[in-house]
Order: sequence, then structure tokens, then C-alpha cells
Amino acid sequence: MQHGKIVCIGQNYRAHVKEMRSTEPEEPMLFLKPSSAIIGDGETIEAGAVGRVDHEVELALVIGRTATKVSEGEALSHVSHLAVFNDITARDMQAKARKAGNPWTLSKGMDTFAPMSRPVPISSVKDLHDLDLELRVNGEMRQKGNTGDMIFGPEALVSYISRFMTLEPGDIIATGTPEGVSPLSDGDRVEASIPGVGAVRNTFRRV
Ligand code: MG
Repeated sequence: MQHGKIVCIGQNYRAHVKEMRSTEPEEPMLFLKPSSAIIGDGETIEAGAVGRVDHEVELALVIGRTATKVSEGEALSHVSHLAVFNDITARDMQAKARKAGNPWTLSKGMDTFAPMSRPVPISSVKDLHDLDLELRVNGEMRQKGNTGDMIFGPEALVSYISRFMTLEPGDIIATGTPEGVSPLSDGDRVEASIPGVGAVRNTFRRV
């Protein structure tokens, strides 16, 4: 599957908004990651001397049919697949950018910063509004959440984004992370998983 833009949603779970000392958004908060950041299961997440680097487990929606100005009712008919996504973040760089009022692009968009599981057809998943999100580092649970706790659910996100930018087949929406984000150390084994959807396992390396 050829992937296009990755539209990421920030601060879409209340407890994560709190741990980031941020305020709950009135509308979905969007940023983009380049598709060049995508890696698959078993590949290595690499970061240089960029300070703290965090994991963020998320549900990814993969667009199957072009969506421009679609209603919430039509939204899911434009999503063909689901996947597990790990929104790797250079947290110190992001904090510096936030403080200066600058974009997050670099802190989120570096090569290997978008591990993603193999997408599965949305029809194979029972209920995308009740999926457990899990993230383990060296086998220890660090994040545990449920897609039912999103502030803006999948339909609202697809509809909202499509009001402003056309979603094309292969585009990805990363729907935000629950609480429990934590820093990675050289050699850590990171596993992001959503039972019923899949898992993506990667080793973290300082290079
Ligand atoms: Mg995220």
C-alpha cells in the first residue's frame, strides 16, 4: 500500500492533555508527518542527539476513497483499513518549538518516527470505538487506553479534516495518544499494539 500524507491529531485524550499540561482543544488539533517517516514491524527507530524521544501509541485510519467535505455519517465509508501507529516524538525539540510558537514538524517528522503495523481491513474489526491501545517497553506496560475515550472520534476527525484538506487513498490519520507517554533509551524494545488490529515492534537506537 502506497501511503500519502499523515494527518496527526494532537491532544485527543483528556488524560494525555493533562500530562502535557495543555488545555482541552475546542476543535481537533492537526499536524502533519511526512510519509518518509514510516517504518514497519521489526525496523529500527533511530534518533541522533535530539534530547528526549517519546513513544505514543495511536489508532491509525487509512483512507480508501477520496474524501472532500464529507459528513460524519459518510466518514467511515472513506476509511478502508486500520493500523497501529507509534507517533514517535522528539519531546524536548517539540517543547522548545511550542514555547517559541513554532511548528512541531521536525520533532515529529524525522526518518523512522512513524512505525506502523500492517493495515487490516476496517470490516475485520468489530468496533473501532472500543479498542484497547497498549504500549510496552521491554515488555513493561507504559500506556493503556481505549479508543472510546477520544475527545473527537474517528467520524468527527475524518469529517473535520475533509472540510479543509482532501483526504486521498493511502493517506493516514493518526488519531491521538492516551496518557502514559515516556522517554526511550538506547536499545529499548518498543511494542505498540491494539488487540484485534495488530502490533508494531521496533528497537530504539541513538545513532
Ligand atoms: Mg501523537
